[in-house]
Amino acid sequence: MAAERLTLLFLLLACVLHFPVGSLRTYRGYKLFQVTPTTDAHANVLRQLKEESHEMEFLTGLKRNRVTTFVVPPSETSWAHDLLVDHGMKIKTSDLQSLLDRERQRVRSRFAYAKAGRTKPPLSHDDYRDLDEVDKSLGRNPEKRVIIVEALTHAREWIAGAAILYVIDQLLYQYKMNDGDARRALDMYKWIFVPVANPDGYHHTWAEDRMWRKNRRQMHGCVGVDINRNYNIDFKGTEKRYTRNCKTCVYAGPEPFSEPESQNIKHLVESNLSRLQAFVPLHSFQQALFAPWGFTKERPTRHEELDRVGKLMLQTLLSFGKKYEYGISLDLLGYPVSGDAADWVFSMAPWSYTYVYELRPGNYSSCTFILPPEEIVPTGKEVYASLMTMVREMKPVETDHDEDN
Ligand SMILES: [Zn+2]
Repeated sequence: MAAERLTLLFLLLACVLHFPVGSLRTYRGYKLFQVTPTTDAHANVLRQLKEESHEMEFLTGLKRNRVTTFVVPPSETSWAHDLLVDHGMKIKTSDLQSLLDRERQRVRSRFAYAKAGRTKPPLSHDDYRDLDEVDKSLGRNPEKRVIIVEALTHAREWIAGAAILYVIDQLLYQYKMNDGDARRALDMYKWIFVPVANPDGYHHTWAEDRMWRKNRRQMHGCVGVDINRNYNIDFKGTEKRYTRNCKTCVYAGPEPFSEPESQNIKHLVESNLSRLQAFVPLHSFQQALFAPWGFTKERPTRHEELDRVGKLMLQTLLSFGKKYEYGISLDLLGYPVSGDAADWVFSMAPWSYTYVYELRPGNYSSCTFILPPEEIVPTGKEVYASLMTMVREMKPVETDHDEDN
């Protein structure tokens, strides 16, 4: 399996790091002339050359006692050379094509190196980068599949925000340390992190009400919409008793996507839809990992694959010593969830790996959302390691899904 995955990775790299093919113009016979005009007469001869020849290209300015460099085409090298020598000028010439060939050879061997699966850090500064590579370095590779991780949709779940920051930090640090998992994660995927999906609500939990869950929408005597009930899937459906009442903490809002926070995620998902590999919302608390769906017990067609990866993620979570569970939320929560982000995303991208984390503490704990900060790093480690398991185990999704938006 490991060998197969490695091969797959190499194949992907080979596809991405292709040598730029095109019919490169050759400069066979072209010379670079370098001359230093030491008198006005010299400068005038050079000026005359510049004005009369449309094919010579002066790469530098023309000034007494300064080296002037210009490209001379094959048809003009002989008479230009004679003219300059006749006026007593010393000329240094180089073969332009040899210079270009040397550069090309170096670039070719670098691409061959990459094709064999041996990549250098994308931001190493030992050579020039073509457009593809620059885009890759900037994370703009349109070929890359996308992983979206979001947190703090529910304002009071502070550990989710702290854990996502830990994951970002670790990914960058481990990448720099040349860690294989982090390299795979960042080389293969474009990661989009939304550390605070509900900024108004989160601020409110710091300023006024630590237990606030929703956003801060003001409406007819009520405040706040539960963003994680505001998505267009089973909207105010199975969970209708609570989600239709604006006084409850799971009020779904007047209509799907009525809230800017859910619209933001919708935009992110839709603009990356055909390449969406994984969608991972972080919540707390329960110490559980959920696979779709939240609103029904029916399992999606790909549930075996989701379970395979999900159970391996669970193994990683368990390896840190805390009791986590894996399953569908309806089983583990004990109630259906209507209009939530994960279900909507999975309905849009059924090929994706969509998992919802419910982080520390476990249901048994009385600290609920008020998790001591000493648990931030241990929780972050659990999330980071299990995400790396996900990255290792996921089969890259096809990227040719119809994109009709
Ligand atoms: Zn939550």
